[in-house]
Amino acid sequence: MNLTEILHELLPTETVSLLCEIGKLAFQRGMTAYAVGGFVRDLLLDTPTLDIDIVVEGNGITFAEELAQLWQADLTIHERFLTATLRWQQPSTCSPVSPSISKPFCTFTLSRLDIATARKERYLQPAALPEVEPANIPEDLQRRDFSINAMAICIAPDRFGELVDPTGGFLDLQKGIIRVLHEKSFIDDPTRIFRAVRYEQRFGFKIERKTLKLICQARDKSILTKLTRDRIKHELWRILQERNPVKPLRRLKQLGILALVAPEIRITPRRLEWMEKTGKWIKWFTESLPNEKLDCEWTLLLPLLPSEEAIASFCQRYQLGERERKIGIALLKGMKRRTPKRPSSWVKWLNPLPIEVALALAANRALVTDENWQRYFLKLRWVRPDISGDDLKAHGISGRTIDLGLQAALEAKLDKGENAFEQLKVALKRARQTNSSRG
Ligand code: ATP
Repeated sequence: MNLTEILHELLPTETVSLLCEIGKLAFQRGMTAYAVGGFVRDLLLDTPTLDIDIVVEGNGITFAEELAQLWQADLTIHERFLTATLRWQQPSTCSPVSPSISKPFCTFTLSRLDIATARKERYLQPAALPEVEPANIPEDLQRRDFSINAMAICIAPDRFGELVDPTGGFLDLQKGIIRVLHEKSFIDDPTRIFRAVRYEQRFGFKIERKTLKLICQARDKSILTKLTRDRIKHELWRILQERNPVKPLRRLKQLGILALVAPEIRITPRRLEWMEKTGKWIKWFTESLPNEKLDCEWTLLLPLLPSEEAIASFCQRYQLGERERKIGIALLKGMKRRTPKRPSSWVKWLNPLPIEVALALAANRALVTDENWQRYFLKLRWVRPDISGDDLKAHGISGRTIDLGLQAALEAKLDKGENAFEQLKVALKRARQTNSSRG
């Protein structure tokens, strides 16, 4: 099957030109290049991605080095795995500009490109990282996780667009099934259990019957305990990065996997609904305030950690920091307070808390369209009084009462919309009252 037409139809012209160029440059060096994995899968699903993985039959690392030089990219090499990544600093101005290309890719937004040597793997021990050695493309595809991820598109000039599908991935995509390529797949690499669930739930597919049996067997043989915590955490975080993480988490629970890797997590319909709403608030927040930093994965997980003990245990298990633990505890405390009425009370309540906590609270109490919460995130929390400590000092106020005066000025501004003059009056009154009551 040849996919040239589909490539032209679904991808930006610049992406197709880039693939052609890579294929040609590899060919000139005596190598054959392929686009592989998720890129091919998503193209065939009609939802193309610009996340391009290239595999070459030949030395992928020297090829990546040459491309990095040609296109002025930063290069990271993983010698042990025969892989390399090219990165460009500013995706918006993009860089793959080759002198040999008549039309520079000046409008093309590519920030990274993965290039690997076609390779086969040997797993010396269950769940340990494999040893790899160079191989041809069918062998490279055979070592992959599922048939739907084991397809390649040749981008060599003489075979451009040719689909390489040695494991029946195309048919499985049409049938909507997730199928491993051999019986020992989950023993070799149990992270594939999480991957299977992630793809199944993302695409609305079904894990094929025999594959499901192999997952259950691997689970019952306690293979998951052989994985490092880091690798499990990586998979859990990838699940949390899905568009709808609720579905794969529910499935992991149903398969008895979650109880093995994160017994602290409590899955109930109410908590899942809270998590889903948290996801919506996170999306709204990151779109409304794109420059603000936010630990999205941890925020999403908070609704599923029901107690201080659960938070502490999960943080310890996955070596999260003190910050994460404190965020969790702050949420439990924050949950005990009623949502206030006055704007100044919102600010007093929420401003001292990490933004992750405020978002989880919002999700617990309101729809993402709620105007009061939106107003807090967009406006209230940034409001400052129109007077300064110096203004109060000029009227003879000093020490800690300055803070109390400024607090009163802020309240007057937030709750009554008072101007600077009125704020000063209120601040001086509060400061003087405090002084006299102390005196
Ligand atoms: P996603 O859309 O989730 O990013 P992807 O297919 O791009 O999907 P990656 O994790 O980037 O996923 O992996 C790229 C490719 O590498 C996969 O399509 C698959 O062929 C292969 N791969 C990744 N992880 C494994 C694994 N644990 N075992 C075997 N093959 C893997």
